Amino acid sequence: MNYRHGFHAGNHADVLKHLVLVSLLDALKKKDAPFFVVDTHAGRGRYDLAGLQASRTGEAKAGIRKLWSLAAGMPSPPPALARYLAAVAATQAGTPDSYPGSPLLVSQALRPQDRLAACELLPDEAAALKGVLAHDPRSHVHARDGYAALKALLPPRDGATRFARALVLIDPPYEAQDEEYPLITGAVADALQRFPQGIFAVWYPIKQRPSLHPFFRKVATLPVKSALAIELLVRPDDSPLRMNGSGMLLLNPPWQIEKDIEPALKPLAQAMGEAGASWRLTWLKQDKA
Ligand code: SAM
Repeated sequence: MNYRHGFHAGNHADVLKHLVLVSLLDALKKKDAPFFVVDTHAGRGRYDLAGLQASRTGEAKAGIRKLWSLAAGMPSPPPALARYLAAVAATQAGTPDSYPGSPLLVSQALRPQDRLAACELLPDEAAALKGVLAHDPRSHVHARDGYAALKALLPPRDGATRFARALVLIDPPYEAQDEEYPLITGAVADALQRFPQGIFAVWYPIKQRPSLHPFFRKVATLPVKSALAIELLVRPDDSPLRMNGSGMLLLNPPWQIEKDIEPALKPLAQAMGEAGASWRLTWLKQDKA
């Protein structure tokens, strides 16, 4: 595997993914009952935006750094955007050029009763993540394949404690391109058998839209109550060679999460988008209850 997230940390895709993640965690925390988070493709947990990898691509410059500039001039940003920026800032103490990975954002949001299982296949990335989460006894790093780990981790439990709520974040590097989609839908279908009420958040890249159609058709057949695709395009989605945007697919999302997230998408597109930037929310399946 050649993929290293350090080259891409803080880009527009990370911003969308992490804003949605923070919103999901906040929704879960509205109830006292404990929840369990599985991060199947966790990465190293913290990235240096001034380091060699991020500097080589400049993706954070066109991403979170642009958002920071725009947000500095906004008197009252939409609540979901304000909470995401605050969550990022809270991970940065003394390191203003650092940017958190998903497991660090989750770990920071956990309450005493909640748990995180973070899976990372690459040994050096997993070792770095163990260092980042070493202070947190609620978070555990599994240096293994996230899809295989999901079978062992659901239904969620910790010792004698069983969890009635779980969020599964699936954020693969898509090195296998379109071959990743059957892996995702297979893993989710299996996980739903073990834990039907699970909330799933799947990140996906957008190059040319037609390549997503088979994936969405398959998702619509999964036994979930609802499926919502939240997308941010930083340019029109007609270039097959570039990542024109990305989406977060939410399965069984918390009630009315779209009302929290939607107002934050316009400033994301304004800050990080080029001509033709846009955003959209699409229900692939909607709970009629
Ligand atoms: N979720 C992270 C975040 O938001 O900060 C970024 C994850 S990055 C897109 C994907 C990560 O998955 C990489 O660190 C890669 O090494 C790891 N990876 C690739 N295949 C994996 C697998 N089968 N199981 C677990 N981790 C894997």
